[in-house]
Amino acid sequence: MNLISPRVMLNLAGDRIHALPLAIVYLTDRCNSRCVMCDYWQYGQTFLSLDHAHQLTKQFDSLDTRWVLLSGGEPLLHPEWVDVAKVLSGGSRQLWLLTAGLALKKQAQKVADLCQNVTVSLDGATSKTYHSIRGVDAFDEVCAGIRAVVERGKHVSIRCTVQRQNYRELPSLVELAHELGVRQISFLAIDTLTHVAFAHKEEVQKNLSLGLDDLPIFDQVLLDMTERFADDFESGFIAESPAKLRRLRKYFSAMHNMDAFPVVRCNAPRFSAVFTADGNIQPCYFISHNESQLGLNHPKQLELRHNIRTGQRSECKTCVCSMYRGIRSMAFAS
Ligand code: SF4
Ligand code: SF4
Repeated sequence: MNLISPRVMLNLAGDRIHALPLAIVYLTDRCNSRCVMCDYWQYGQTFLSLDHAHQLTKQFDSLDTRWVLLSGGEPLLHPEWVDVAKVLSGGSRQLWLLTAGLALKKQAQKVADLCQNVTVSLDGATSKTYHSIRGVDAFDEVCAGIRAVVERGKHVSIRCTVQRQNYRELPSLVELAHELGVRQISFLAIDTLTHVAFAHKEEVQKNLSLGLDDLPIFDQVLLDMTERFADDFESGFIAESPAKLRRLRKYFSAMHNMDAFPVVRCNAPRFSAVFTADGNIQPCYFISHNESQLGLNHPKQLELRHNIRTGQRSECKTCVCSMYRGIRSMAFAS
């Protein structure tokens, strides 16, 4: 059994980071998907350099980092992603790949050799839906990539961003996840509110989120899922409980001012941080600051974490991807 690291416990006592169990590293801001809800693919141009990876790994050594989540953009687009990943692992850290999966089939062996966990974003259960959301005709290729990594015995999970174009397909996505042999599927609501994550244009926002007419249909979808996939909820194959999935419904209702946004509980900045390909450090995916190249415990970073902890950041009130870890799971991660 893992003992609770005193250094992680110290993180809970204030805003300074003493240990960092989880580091999220963007290998690049480039992407080969063309998602309707995101504009990374239009502007991305940076790759994390090997030198930068070496600097990061020194920091991770000193902060007892156990997991590095390789993210982006699309991390597999980095021409030297294997070398960079090896450096970031430092020989002992676990690697977790978050990918859209377009290059997964080709890179399956390397991914399986290097990464303990792989999470693939899959937003449709059919080629047509996938194409309409992701902007590329790659559904079969992504599924083949998932199978290729699963066949190599790796822990693969699917993450689906629930939105207007795919909410009716949630049951089919669970079935597809079984067919593909993954360990888990999880669902989160599309974020059309924060400025860094997804779409900006009002017109796109309206079309991405569920409309008023969609809400009763979504209720029925969730009810059907609760009955039909009781075993999958029980086993954790579906990562969220039925109650947690109903929070997605509450979120979409709140978008129409028909409900309050679900209460968010998050302490992600106490055990993780995001390191971008161009050298910035963020407390999470959604919150950045205007000044770049500030160290993890620079006074401005402390202030940012303080403002998050004391409820002063509006992003947190409508966040779709919060993370909360109790002391036990923090101890496990450390
Ligand atoms: S949402 Fe992710 S996969 Fe889609 S374009 Fe943006 S970075 Fe790429
Ligand atoms: S609630 Fe969301 S926006 Fe706020 S710190 Fe957590 S992950 Fe970041």
